[in-house]
Amino acid sequence: MELESLRELYVDELKDLYSAEGQILKALPRMIKAASSRDLKRALTEHERVTRKQVKRLERIFKDLDETPRGKKCRGMEGLLEEGKELMSEKPEPDVLDAGLISKAQHVEHYEIAGYGTVRAWAQQLGFDQHVELLQETLDEEGEADKRLSQLAESSINLEAADTDDATSDREVAVASSREMGSRGRRTRASGRRGSEMSAR
Ligand code: FE
Ligand code: ZN
Ligand code: FE
Repeated sequence: MELESLRELYVDELKDLYSAEGQILKALPRMIKAASSRDLKRALTEHERVTRKQVKRLERIFKDLDETPRGKKCRGMEGLLEEGKELMSEKPEPDVLDAGLISKAQHVEHYEIAGYGTVRAWAQQLGFDQHVELLQETLDEEGEADKRLSQLAESSINLEAADTDDATSDREVAVASSREMGSRGRRTRASGRRGSEMSAR
């Protein structure tokens, strides 16, 4: 590919990420408020702080490129955050909502990891070594956030959600999807208890 057009693609994807980060910053306070688990609240609050640093890094890169970060709306992130809103509006049990919020947040992290992995590779190809460093820092932070959410899902939160015995079918879906993230041992315990329902599905 012509370097000229790769550079354009690079700027475009950076704009997409800039929009995504901005949308995340707007959505996080609502998610933090909706979460019940103190650990989950803490993890999301910490990621809010980290996200501000990530926005600053992108702004540094745009300045270096002499480009504006504006002019693009990330539709992917809009959709992911919309799903989070939908979940919250269904008002599930607090434990189930926490499990669902973890799932939504992990979708967000994975989307970001895909985007940052891409721009980091392009920065490398284009010879923007300083950008590579900055983008790698963000990539590491997104990975850490994802890992922390996995740990939360594997600890008490999903187990408590699975204990909600009078679960409606909506909640069942939330529990089932969040269980996917759980550790094997956890999943075995949970599916052992609910084995008949699992196989009936
Ligand atoms: Fe981010
Ligand atoms: Zn996007
Ligand atoms: Fe993130």
